[in-house]
Amino acid sequence: EFTKKNSIAEQRKLLPVFGVRDALLQVIRENVVIVVVGETGSGKTTQLTQYLYEDGYASGSHMIGCTQPRRVAAVSVAKRVSEEMGVQLGKEVGYSIRFEDMTDSSETRIKYMTDGILLRETLKDPTLDKYRVVIMDEAHERSLNTDVLFGIMKRVLRSRLDFKLIVTSATMNADKFSQFFANVPIFHIPGRTFPVDTLYSRTPCEDYVDAAVKQALNIHLGSPPGDILIFLTGREEIECCCFQLQERLERVAKASAEAAATSAADPKSAVSSVPPLLVLPMYSQLPSDLQAKIFQPAPKGSRKCIVATNVAETSLTVDGIYYVIDTGYQKYKVYSAKMGMDSLQVYPSSQAAANQRSGRAGRTGPGTCYRLYTEHAFFHEMLESTVPEIQRTNLAQVVLLLKSLDVDNLLEFDFMDSPPQDILVSSMFNLWVLGALDCSGTLTSLGVALSEFPLDPPLAKLLVTSVEMGCSLEVLTIVSMLSVPQVFFRPSDRQEESDAAREKFYVPESDHLTLLHTYMTWKNNGCSSSWCDKHFIHGKGMQKAREVRAQLLEIMRQQKQQIRSVSGEDWDVIRRCICKSYHQHASRQKGVGEYVHVSTGAQAHLHPTSALYGLGYSPDYVVYHEVVMTSKEYMNHVTAVEPAWLAEFAPLFFTIKTEGMTRAVIRAKEAEIQEFMESEM
Ligand code: ADP
Ligand code: MG
Repeated sequence: EFTKKNSIAEQRKLLPVFGVRDALLQVIRENVVIVVVGETGSGKTTQLTQYLYEDGYASGSHMIGCTQPRRVAAVSVAKRVSEEMGVQLGKEVGYSIRFEDMTDSSETRIKYMTDGILLRETLKDPTLDKYRVVIMDEAHERSLNTDVLFGIMKRVLRSRLDFKLIVTSATMNADKFSQFFANVPIFHIPGRTFPVDTLYSRTPCEDYVDAAVKQALNIHLGSPPGDILIFLTGREEIECCCFQLQERLERVAKASAEAAATSAADPKSAVSSVPPLLVLPMYSQLPSDLQAKIFQPAPKGSRKCIVATNVAETSLTVDGIYYVIDTGYQKYKVYSAKMGMDSLQVYPSSQAAANQRSGRAGRTGPGTCYRLYTEHAFFHEMLESTVPEIQRTNLAQVVLLLKSLDVDNLLEFDFMDSPPQDILVSSMFNLWVLGALDCSGTLTSLGVALSEFPLDPPLAKLLVTSVEMGCSLEVLTIVSMLSVPQVFFRPSDRQEESDAAREKFYVPESDHLTLLHTYMTWKNNGCSSSWCDKHFIHGKGMQKAREVRAQLLEIMRQQKQQIRSVSGEDWDVIRRCICKSYHQHASRQKGVGEYVHVSTGAQAHLHPTSALYGLGYSPDYVVYHEVVMTSKEYMNHVTAVEPAWLAEFAPLFFTIKTEGMTRAVIRAKEAEIQEFMESEM
């Protein structure tokens, strides 16, 4: 224990930021706002909070807050800092992410949190009185919530004299941040990086997962020691890549052992000459104990290969990487006007992101970056920098929040980069459809209620609607299950078995009710983890859903909502409730498993894992939770609904697209839309 503590203290002193500690603290003392720029890994995230703590910024009952765009980073960094300070996580050092608060209201002095959490805190405490200093970390990421926080911070700074703001960034955008706050000082942490040799593919590659696997094996079998970092876009790809790497490595090792056996005098003593490779996945939904493994050094004689999303680009730094394999793609959340909602899509990453990625190979010594795309593609097909999230995603939640903070005219809010007006208007239109805004764009009482839930507005609406319809206990469960990662587990070597296990939970015609049924069965079986294992269900995910449920229930209690359970087993009420809140996602059947969105005409398909897939028929009308793009557009979480319900709840959409309804209704609605849109222009 003593040596561990000692070595951590040594490590802290080796970080580039340590050399400028006193100068940095001096600049902070003399200024209200400063921008700190430093290479990834220089110690910004883990050290700055501790320096401020040591300099007395957390005296009294004040806190030092540090925001992160990514949940994984907030958790991982808080863990690391609590170890460095030798305290228990959740006490002096804590973290808070949506649905998971690991802080202690009386003891926590350093609090890491997602930018979304701090943004929500401003609803209850507009001047952020709890904080003496806020560090907005990873500002270069330009996440939606960080961008909104920038504007909010200006208000906080105007109303508080004892508050300091530190904006930190990897080596991009610093001037822009400084200008936003009237040219505040920029403090540069001197870098300590090694040259990275960047190699491009000669031809575009067709399957980048396959190409990455081959490249990693080539490095492992033919290059000097040093760990490998591969950048891919998401969980499925990463798991597939890890699986293929292991498999091919085993094959190579076996062949090598056989070759050794045939040539050796004593076959029994022959061993493979292939050294071990430790393959480690890293993505946000990975359980945190597995995430922590990427930081552990590989055992002597072996090599580590981390297969990660862009969370490893700047948010998390792993030492010892000498080889980076960059596939050149990443997932972006983008608003699709066609579908009227966000979807995650894979696009080429930007030049700035690619340069950050290659930089990861030069932290410990001179490294190599293999770009699995051509030099021409880098210069002519990649954008110089990534488009900020605020300019490409649905803004409904942000609009709701800003309206709650009395920002009436959103076009006048101090955005660093304004959101495009069409996305802003269509986000407001969506809120109006939900009933959260009235025709003049003012927040309704329903809107106020929705803003109190840390949920997407339609999900919050589902909860509020369930109160009217007397099915909130069931809907609470459904919303909680929709708020945690997929609980059905599908290992690649036992797919048939796991699919069969999953089918037992199916409620015909509804994935939402299937989730409810699964949760209830889990409860009836004592929430046991062995039961989960037997039925291919993630036990931790179920526990998480229960925690989320308790938190949402608490918000509803505070709102003094009447919480009731359906009478008997009348689950049709729940389906009606889903229909009423999600009619904007109604789709009409077009062929087997094929649907078109009622109001936009966009196509989407039933997913093979949906409870509606193997019915032998496709219900005429469904509503869905979201659309995911993989090989095509799939509806995720679908429930069959009656056309009569749609006509009742959504005359607007229904009548515009179908014949036979009275034009008068349509005209009234059209006039309302017109009035609404005009008031926003
Ligand atoms: P920056 O924010 O400037 O990118 P960090 O403060 O995140 O830098 O990282 C500083 C150092 O701390 C790096 O060398 C990194 O490897 C190390 N580090 C960060 N988190 C962990 C962790 N969970 N376990 C071990 N080392 C870590
Ligand atoms: Mg950092």
